[in-house]
Amino acid sequence: MGTSISQTLNDIFIEADQNKAINSDKFNQAIEEIQKRSAELSIFQTEFLNYLITFNHISAGHYEDAIYELEELQKNAQSAKVKIRSLLSLSNIYAFIKQYENAFTRLNYVTENLETINNQEVKQVAYLAMANTYLLTNQYQLSEKFSSLLLDQNPNPKIKCRANNYRLSALLKYSPGLVDKKVDIDQAITQCIESEQNIVADFLRAAWINYRLNSFEAESDLSEIQRYRVQLENSLTSSSDTQLKSYELIAKSLLARSNFKLGAFEEASNYALAVLQEKTVIGDNEPKLDVLLVLQSIAEQQGDYQTAYNYQSQLVNIKEDLIQDKQMKELAFLNVKHANQARELEIEQLNKSNQILKIEQQLAKQNAFNQQLVVLLLLIVLGFAVAWLYRMNKRHGALVKVAELDHLTKVYNRSGFEKKVNQWLNKAKHHQTQLHFAIIDFDHFKQINDKYGHLTGDWVLKHVIYEIKKHMDEGMMLSRLGGEEFSLVILEQSSQQAELKMEKIRQVIENLDLSESGHEINITCSFGVTSSEVSGYNLVSLLTHADVALYQAKSAGRNQLIRYQT
Ligand code: GH3
Ligand code: MG
Ligand code: MG
Repeated sequence: MGTSISQTLNDIFIEADQNKAINSDKFNQAIEEIQKRSAELSIFQTEFLNYLITFNHISAGHYEDAIYELEELQKNAQSAKVKIRSLLSLSNIYAFIKQYENAFTRLNYVTENLETINNQEVKQVAYLAMANTYLLTNQYQLSEKFSSLLLDQNPNPKIKCRANNYRLSALLKYSPGLVDKKVDIDQAITQCIESEQNIVADFLRAAWINYRLNSFEAESDLSEIQRYRVQLENSLTSSSDTQLKSYELIAKSLLARSNFKLGAFEEASNYALAVLQEKTVIGDNEPKLDVLLVLQSIAEQQGDYQTAYNYQSQLVNIKEDLIQDKQMKELAFLNVKHANQARELEIEQLNKSNQILKIEQQLAKQNAFNQQLVVLLLLIVLGFAVAWLYRMNKRHGALVKVAELDHLTKVYNRSGFEKKVNQWLNKAKHHQTQLHFAIIDFDHFKQINDKYGHLTGDWVLKHVIYEIKKHMDEGMMLSRLGGEEFSLVILEQSSQQAELKMEKIRQVIENLDLSESGHEINITCSFGVTSSEVSGYNLVSLLTHADVALYQAKSAGRNQLIRYQT
């Protein structure tokens, strides 16, 4: 008898879990049922209940409350399952509210411990959440990989539907050349409807329609667009589920676009204006961008150039946000640098045959290519945006940033450095504050390359700089002057204080554990130091004097700071 009761309780938990994000009525019913029987709950079940209840905050849009509670659970829960699931939900929420670095670090805790999870159910939830976080952060290839891994494990119908949604949405974004898309998508939509996940089916259909509208040529089949219009309208009216706001925005923006393509300008305008009126700050700006384009085109076609111009100005602002957002995702991803872990994990999963080497090479190539492509695309987009914003006489300072960063270490490159340090020099001169300057040169770096190869050399540079960054504060600036030479600028009145900070960094480098590279590597750096007091507020003198001091530091045995003396 006892087992049959706890069995039922388990079923209710599953019911609540499956409906938490898609059907609030069913979810609330299940939660009420569980709360009525709270006396029967084990500690683990109580923790799981607390986890589930945070979804009330999430569906109400109270993300801060949800984050607070999930962080508590993540730290204090006794159940490993609840800990992991809290971390996963956190990574999804953080990605959704655009706190990308937080999203990736939470996800990292999980990926690092994934091998230790032997509960199949939790593992599947982990893959699902990873696929979602990667999709939200534009890491489409990784999103596709994790959903595929999950699908290989033959999950239950509900999980299968969601995994398919992530997999196909990611594919549509990064590899639209895929054959049989239409068949795959239709099957996935049907499967989602059969497993009672209509909202997921809606999202998937919207992703497909979005892709089709983007790739339509002028003379294409209008009846297909007509069909999409009907499907979208039905999805907006038919659903009895709590309509998710973000889906509504997407569907309406697609309706604006399809109506525009069909020449139904009035309907197109109405849907577009409805999207613009929506005040949701969170979520994607893309629906707004799309409808502004529609409104601008309509105004142009009607010869109303003033209105067209107004829409265009709004477009500029949203584009700027979108570009910055893309940039932030990319930087956060690179900072948390877990692409390698994800790859390792995948290789381990596929470790069934002697094909492993081939796959590893393929992935390495793909990853490198993918990352180059992202950066390249980003630069192209930035190029356009900068020119455009310039013409519109808009502020565009923040956009140039990527071009000023060194691609390997993500600190200022030479040109970023010169720009920034001159600003700092002007400010320091104006306020008569001291500016301290060091050139940091890696000791015997050539030997690292000679012994372990250039790739390891690159990894060491990247890793050391990554570790140094942890000790930087607002009044400090690190740049790559070239090769293995970096500069450190410190705004600080007292020379002793500045020197303490530099000395600290020297010690950090000296004590770094670089065994992760697979080699026993010890690295040190020499510092040539000067300051505005000695060299003036002049970049050329600062560089020259620091260089002289650096030479002395090298001669005196390396791994030390030497101050320039007149
Ligand atoms: P020291 O400064 O202590 O006198 O010795 P060193 O071996 O560092 O001497 P040097 O400055 O002459 O050589 C620097 C070497 O750093 C040469 C080059 O192969 C290597 N290097 C420079 N930039 C990079 C890079 O981006 N990646 C890698 N892997 N190596 C680099
Ligand atoms: Mg050098
Ligand atoms: Mg050197």
